[in-house]
Amino acid sequence: MTQNYYHKEIETMKPEDMRKLQSEKLVKQVKHVYENVPYYRNLMDEKGVKPEDIKGIDDLHKLPFLSKTDLRDAYPYGLLAVPLEKCVKIHSTSGTTGRRVVAFYTQNDVDLWEDCCARAIMAAGGTNKDVCQVSYGYGLFTGGAGLNGGSHKVGCLTLPMSSGNTDRQIQFMMDLQASILCCTPSYAAYIGETLKEQGYRPEDIPLKAGIFGAEPWTEEMRRSIEATLGIKAYDIYGLTETTGPGVAFECSEQNGMHINEDHFYAEIIDPDTGEVLPEGSKGELVFTSLDKEAFPLLRYRTRDICVLSRKKCSCGRTLIKMAKPMGRTDDMLIIRGVNVFPSQIETVLLKEGYEPNYQIIVDRVNNTDTFEVKVEMTAEKFTDKVSDILKMEKSLAGSMKTMLGINPTIHLVAPKSITRSEGKAVRIIDKRKLV
Ligand code: ADP
Ligand code: ZN
Repeated sequence: MTQNYYHKEIETMKPEDMRKLQSEKLVKQVKHVYENVPYYRNLMDEKGVKPEDIKGIDDLHKLPFLSKTDLRDAYPYGLLAVPLEKCVKIHSTSGTTGRRVVAFYTQNDVDLWEDCCARAIMAAGGTNKDVCQVSYGYGLFTGGAGLNGGSHKVGCLTLPMSSGNTDRQIQFMMDLQASILCCTPSYAAYIGETLKEQGYRPEDIPLKAGIFGAEPWTEEMRRSIEATLGIKAYDIYGLTETTGPGVAFECSEQNGMHINEDHFYAEIIDPDTGEVLPEGSKGELVFTSLDKEAFPLLRYRTRDICVLSRKKCSCGRTLIKMAKPMGRTDDMLIIRGVNVFPSQIETVLLKEGYEPNYQIIVDRVNNTDTFEVKVEMTAEKFTDKVSDILKMEKSLAGSMKTMLGINPTIHLVAPKSITRSEGKAVRIIDKRKLV
């Protein structure tokens, strides 16, 4: 595929020039934060670091971390770095893991964010000839606004659908011949399933690409969505605290996401010690915003577990890449002492021919964790013969044991009995109340 870049010079910049640019921006950003955010100034003072100590990226490690707890403590205005008159809007996290946090944007911040999303759309092959259907939620959630803005910047005809009302999504997709779909991977799977039920084959569907993110999804799920919709599916990553989607995006290589590192500097740290780990190590992803005005975060701990790589990419971009996040440190379940990620369960299910419609239910009975996975039978696998169901459950439990090291109780349920998600899917029901 011939490459289209939105910002060619930045996206293909030599790494040493990028580091210089990042260093210059960091010095300014640290000064801006120290002067305008008393909350962070206190953290720096406590650590004995002054803005003058930060002369470039090499000094970044001297700065204190910020965590989601800090954002909650400082709610709502404690981390705001400009007067409110300069802010044009707020967004808020989805609240997947607790109280929501709010982020503020100046007009420049909005521009920068939309540019990031425009880079993502062009990396997925988008041009001004495309019809881009944005089916992420609009409103406080960042997904809709970010991709909507990016789509405008590329010059696509933008369908601001928001999520939900799947029949209407399909009608507009067909009537207006949408060529790019942006939504969560779980909603893409649901739209695909509905199209199939309505009798559409992949070749009847006008889409060529999908830009899916905002939640973890596996390679197997990617392949399944690609087959159902007849598209190439690209990953996109971001979080409200740093703007929203578009912090990192996938290119034609579909093997990790390029980080918009001229705006967001990434580090990988050991989540227990805070030590910065070398490229290629697995650890917690930490971002420093380099240009943001209203809500600049220095060394923000995302809790996402990830690996960075500077390996050469066939698309020509030199921006550093992050692997698909495996899940968050707080998504990880510890069941009978074993670490379990929903993504591992999803991998097994798709390998065994199931769809990614499942729920993990954990409880504690007589001081022992119970671990149940509710899985939908597909229409092809459906049977009401008890002995067949038991056989299938046993076989699936065996495959899970091999992947996870512990044995779940599998509970197969009828097709379509697990609620579909139009936004981020809820996969875990933890009844143990450990926190
Ligand atoms: P919340 O933290 O309440 O879910 P956000 O809507 O800002 O708020 O979600 C950001 C989080 O979503 C990220 O920190 C990450 O855990 C997850 N996420 C976003 N994009 C992806 C992606 N492409 N792959 C995996 N996880 C993602
Ligand atoms: Zn690439």
